[in-house]
Parts: sequence; structure tokens; C-alpha cells
Amino acid sequence: MKYVDEFRDRDLARTLAAAIAAAADPARDYNFMEFCGGHTHAIFRYGVQDLVPANVRFVHGPGCPVCILPARRLDDAIELAERHGVILCSYGDMLRVPGTGRRSLLKAKADGADIRMVYSTLDALDIARANPGREVVFLGIGFETTTPPSAAAIAQAQAEGIANFSVFCNHVLTPPAIRHILEAPEIDPSQAARLDGFLGPSHVSTIIGSRPYEFLAARYAKPVVIAGFEPLDVMQSVLMLIRQVNEGRVEVENQYTRVVTRDGNAKAQELVDGIFELRPSFEWRGLGSVPDSALAIRAEYAAFDAEKRFTLSEKRSRETKSCECPAILRGVKKPKDCKLFGKACTPETPMGACMVSSEGACAAYWTYRRMETLAEMAAE
Ligand code: SF4
Repeated sequence: MKYVDEFRDRDLARTLAAAIAAAADPARDYNFMEFCGGHTHAIFRYGVQDLVPANVRFVHGPGCPVCILPARRLDDAIELAERHGVILCSYGDMLRVPGTGRRSLLKAKADGADIRMVYSTLDALDIARANPGREVVFLGIGFETTTPPSAAAIAQAQAEGIANFSVFCNHVLTPPAIRHILEAPEIDPSQAARLDGFLGPSHVSTIIGSRPYEFLAARYAKPVVIAGFEPLDVMQSVLMLIRQVNEGRVEVENQYTRVVTRDGNAKAQELVDGIFELRPSFEWRGLGSVPDSALAIRAEYAAFDAEKRFTLSEKRSRETKSCECPAILRGVKKPKDCKLFGKACTPETPMGACMVSSEGACAAYWTYRRMETLAEMAAE
């Protein structure tokens, strides 16, 4: 299959592994943060960590939109779903994420709330058209990749006069999150010094391009390589990062040239800019309050904004005690550092979002490295 098989080719992987081994200086360490959960899963699924020298390490980042949504926003979504007459539409990943008291959308559905899993915003619009007497709320989450479909749905709802459709907007932005990791001392003052570079988001970059990361390279002297999600993409990107570090270069390089350009998708950006504006600040699980890191629906489209349309109650939301998701999302801990991993917390009994989401680090360790992780935990 074009663009898949050749990026999983065993002989090419061996060639790249040899090139990485030859390039990596044994006298130093290389700590590269893969921002996206998609990269984390590619690394584990294809055993990429085993194909690079031990001094080349992957630090898992916060690039899982389900994982970074704090309990408060999930509690708000559950409250919306439990309103009389509301149909809440959500992508499947969100349904089992535990909020305060481990209550989830799935539990609310079992208790009678009308919550429907959808595959796209178009499905949610169809549900709104089919139920004109009900309020249909779409739970919008995700990075820059999933924002254009939410914008398109709002534009379409306005064009068609679909008055019973709104979006609970939780769309977040990647460059401010990376900046926050490098800048905010309350996260971990040593983290910025420890990181030698970033595997940059790839699908996000199809929309925003590689240009928004240039300030990160310039201001913080951290190399960035926009990396595709196939195993050879990741390995080639690691080689590019190692070469930058060895040569003292600090640049944004684009490995994912078959999809990403420097300026991204202008049409999608225009659509998003027309519907959304920056939120002054947004709470991220693990990162805390991050300035200018999320989007809100513009006042002109307030009729389609669930936060304007419904009054949400004040809450005392709480993250699950002992869940290490926040530290894992900051890249300062790994799933093996959580004493609940594989015991109280499994995919069947998730205690935190990182075990639920298909992009979560704990789910990656559970799916691809469960026995080794449990053995490491037992040995400590
Ligand atoms: S194993 Fe479960 S409880 Fe522990 S950090 Fe991961 S999601 Fe949270």
C-alpha cells in the first residue's frame, strides 16, 4: 500500500537503525520529547526504542487531547449530557474517561443520559436535523487537526439555520503547550534543560504548517523535526534530530514532507480563524493553566456555543487520587512510576485518561510493553 508499506520496510528500518547507531555519540545522552500520543504508540507498537541506542531516549509529551482535558471540563460535559432534552454527541475516546469520583460519560449514559458516539461533526449535525425538538451538543475536543471539522459544523449549522445545535469547545493548541513545558518553572525546572529536541506533531502540522514551531527553535534553542507517524518516519526524524544536536544546529526540519508544508492548509486556517478566537488561558491536565493555549467560539457564533447557551454549575472537580497522568503528560514520569498501573488501573478499569485514550501513554505501555513494565515495577 503506497505510503504505508514502504514506511514499515524491515530492511530500511535496519539501515536507519545502523545510521542512528553510527550518528549517536556514546559520550552523551539524547532526550527527545515526542509531543504526540500517536508517536508514543508508533514507538511502542513497532519497538522503535529497541532499534536505537540506549542513550537515545523518548520522553512522552502531552499530545493526547483526551488525556489533557481536566476533570472539570469532563464534569461539565457530563452535566450538559444530563440536562433534560439534551443529546450529547462525542467521539468514542471520551466516553470512558473518568471525571470526578470516576464518573464518566458512559456511566451517565447507563444512568439514562442521551449520549451518542459519533465519528464526525457531520454525524452530530445529522442528529440535530433529525431531532429538531432536542438540544444537540457536540463535545469538541482535540488539537489543531480536529478543529476545522468543528468550525465547519458551526458554519454549516448557521448556513442551514439549525437552531438546536451547539459545540462545547475544548479545542487546544500545540505550540503554546510546548512553550509552556520549556518555560513554566512550576512544571519542572530541569525539564527544559533535559530535553534535547522535539519530534513535532505531524497531523497538527498539516493544518498549521511547520512555521509556528520556528519561534520555539529560535527562542529556546531546541531542534524540532516534524515527524510522520509510521515507524520509519519516527526513525528518520530521530536521525535528523541527532544530526542537529551533533552539529550544533537548531532548526525546524520537516521529515513529513509528503503531507506537511511550512505554511499548512490556508483554507482550514481561514475557516478556524473565522469561527474561533484565542482563550486567554485554558487548564490542561498536567500543565495547569496555559496562556493562549485554547480556542473559544467567537461572539458572532454565540448561538452555537454550548458554554453561552447553557449555564454550567460551579464545581469542585477532582482528579483521581494517585493517578500519575499529570506528571506523565509533563514528561517527568512514566507509567511504570504509577503504582496503580496494571493493578487498580487497566483498560477495563481505567483510573485515568492516559489508560483510556488510544493515544495515551499508559494505554501504549499496557498494549505493547505490559509484562516488561510490571516486571520493572516489581523490581523497584
Ligand atoms: S496507570 Fe492509570 S492511574 Fe496510573 S497514571 Fe496511568 S491512567 Fe493514571
